[in-house]
Amino acid sequence: MAQKPKRTKSGSAWMHEHVTDPYVKKAQSDGYRSRAAYKLLEIDTRDRLFRPGMTVVDLGAAPGSWCQVAVQKLKRQGRVLAIDLLPLAAMPGVESLEGDFTEPAALHWLEERLATARVDLVLSDMAPNISGVGLRDQARQYELCELALDFAVQWLKPDGGFLVKVFQGVGFEDFRRQMQAAFEQVLIRKPDASRDRSSEVYLLGRHPRQDRAAAVTSTDEQV
Ligand code: SAM
Repeated sequence: MAQKPKRTKSGSAWMHEHVTDPYVKKAQSDGYRSRAAYKLLEIDTRDRLFRPGMTVVDLGAAPGSWCQVAVQKLKRQGRVLAIDLLPLAAMPGVESLEGDFTEPAALHWLEERLATARVDLVLSDMAPNISGVGLRDQARQYELCELALDFAVQWLKPDGGFLVKVFQGVGFEDFRRQMQAAFEQVLIRKPDASRDRSSEVYLLGRHPRQDRAAAVTSTDEQV
């Protein structure tokens, strides 16, 4: 006879936290696909990320609450291009790819859609599946962050912005330095909707340094 899966203590604690979480309840009543919407809304209230007409790229977009926020904030003027490993249920105003951002095919998909257009805002809420090996998970998170940063540096407009989820700990200071080398301004944000026990914070880079963008382009051209 097949055994019932074990109910772990941490699993039931997670479920209890999930069903009692005010942001989960609010997302259900507001029609957002996940509680993550409130992290972006809070950062936007403070930092005014969106303007109608923008081109926004959302990396690690599923289930899609950041896309919902972006579409609302753009007032349906502009574009949202979204990528995730997981399928994203269709949403008016969003062009999406089910694919791995670390694979060249995902970059080609973005390049094809953008053609000569530049991007106003790159969002990355990507997070790898947790293996449970802390250092390995942290390293994979920063690989994703660095790839997203490379994309942002190459594609952002001079007044563009890049919001990226990071986890404090090993690799954080190094990545923060990379952000500071790439942007005139780098801000750290920990929205209320981000759980206190999580080491997750968001870095917001604004105004890509033009010398850095030029350096990346000329390196690419030499290859
Ligand atoms: N911002 C999303 C929202 O509001 O619905 C939630 C994003 S969720 C926290 C992180 C997502 O990153 C997951 O859906 C996961 O599939 C995606 N992800 C992780 N690695 C990825 C990769 N290499 N390429 C694309 N997406 C990835």
